[in-house]
Amino acid sequence: RLDWPEGSSDSLSSGGSDSDESVYKVLLLGAPGVGKSALARIFGGVEDGPEAEAAGHTYDRSIMVDGEEASLMVYDIWEQDGGRWLPGHCLAMGDAYVIVYSVTDKGSFEKASELRVQLRRARQTDDVPIILVGNKSDLVRSREVSLDEGRACAVVFDCKFIETSAALHHNVQALFEGVVRQIRLRRDSKEA
Ligand code: GDP
Ligand code: MG
Repeated sequence: RLDWPEGSSDSLSSGGSDSDESVYKVLLLGAPGVGKSALARIFGGVEDGPEAEAAGHTYDRSIMVDGEEASLMVYDIWEQDGGRWLPGHCLAMGDAYVIVYSVTDKGSFEKASELRVQLRRARQTDDVPIILVGNKSDLVRSREVSLDEGRACAVVFDCKFIETSAALHHNVQALFEGVVRQIRLRRDSKEA
């Protein structure tokens, strides 16, 4: 059920010299119910996937960003019941992290901050890209976290920020393009 990238997992994890051919591992983090799986399914182009998949899913796709192709492996595996993916492993394996909260759930926003702290602890020496995502922007009447609160949090945590609506497919493409740009920025500055 889990599609671990066959034969590529270990050789790619440390990246570096062959960065152009790398598959970038992107992990979705966030409280339950914020829309991680919905965002991942849109990325993977499989919107009717099983909602209640216990063990989590990975989605493998190449996208064009700024005229250059990028291969992403998106992992929707955070705190899944399968138990195969330990939190510590998740926090160690990503080339980029998408921390999702729901704008309709203040608790999930607070959880996002906790995750940012956890991630910083796990990856102290790495400058790993993080994108903070306020999902469910379509639910205007039940909003509990303002756009400004989201932005301010991203400033404090030194990461990028975007609001999305998986329901309306709003900004989902932009989110994953942003992930690629953040990975490339760091790759390019390392090469320079
Ligand atoms: P996960 O637990 O983080 O994977 O969250 P899911 O992707 O399973 O989504 C939880 C619920 O929120 C589901 O019923 C989704 O249909 C719904 N949902 C996800 N994203 C959005 C969104 O952008 N807008 C609205 N209105 N509902 C959403
Ligand atoms: Mg899910």
